[in-house]
Amino acid sequence: MAIVEITYRYGTPGATLRPRPLDAESARLRLNEGNRTFAALLEGMAEAGGTVHRVVEIDARDLGIHPTSRGTPGQLPFAAVLGCSDARVPIELIFNEGPNDLFVVRVAGNGLGDDVLGSLRYAVEHLRGSLRLVAVLGHSGCGALTTAVDIFLEPSGYLSLATNHALRSILDRQLIIVQTSARRLANSFGHDVVKHKRYREALTETAIVTNAALTAYAVQQELRGFDPHDLRVVYGVYLLESHEIWAPTRSLTKASGLAEPPVDLASFIELGEEIVGSDRIASLLNR
Ligand SMILES: [Zn+2]
Repeated sequence: MAIVEITYRYGTPGATLRPRPLDAESARLRLNEGNRTFAALLEGMAEAGGTVHRVVEIDARDLGIHPTSRGTPGQLPFAAVLGCSDARVPIELIFNEGPNDLFVVRVAGNGLGDDVLGSLRYAVEHLRGSLRLVAVLGHSGCGALTTAVDIFLEPSGYLSLATNHALRSILDRQLIIVQTSARRLANSFGHDVVKHKRYREALTETAIVTNAALTAYAVQQELRGFDPHDLRVVYGVYLLESHEIWAPTRSLTKASGLAEPPVDLASFIELGEEIVGSDRIASLLNR
């Protein structure tokens, strides 16, 4: 049987503790590197004869148990992450981070509702001493986007949400993204694409990455004015199948880690083309 041992360890003599990133790009690279470490750990499981180990060194000060500085630790995250509530996407774990590293907001479908925005604003306003990056993270097979796609494909399903205001408000925001994604797929693959047996899946995955990019763009716009010197917003999609983070770019067809969202309409159109032209989406629809 395969065994994965991940140890969060503090107080190891001689252990090198990682310094917190001092700028946005270092923060982005650290999250990408952390995710690659996590993905590689699971990937290496078969080669290692079924048992793999990883130790994440924790600074005892972040837990308030350091002999010389006991008590409540100050909050010092270097990144805020808006992720989905999906239980298969544990944020600290997939980025190889520990306590006091990430300010995490999780909500089904990782959309930008009022409470989410309020939490992110709090982080930006109150944690600016350490916070360098905001990341919006979608994930493959997201149930929230799948539901929105199913309603788009069969609108009668919306009736069952008539008395469910909270769920409706999440889905309403996503339906426009699904609609845009459907149009993009039709433009690239022809109107008959709707008959393809994997169309629902392709539409869902297109909507997931579009949702993450658009949400990152919206966060960037909303935080303008609250924005300290060097804060940036990035986005990506965690792939449940490979444990890697993906954001489509022309130059890199493989997992590319967290990326910058579009900044205007022209770059959104360009991103839309990159998404439907990516191996990931195109391979679903190639017969
Ligand atoms: Zn989800």
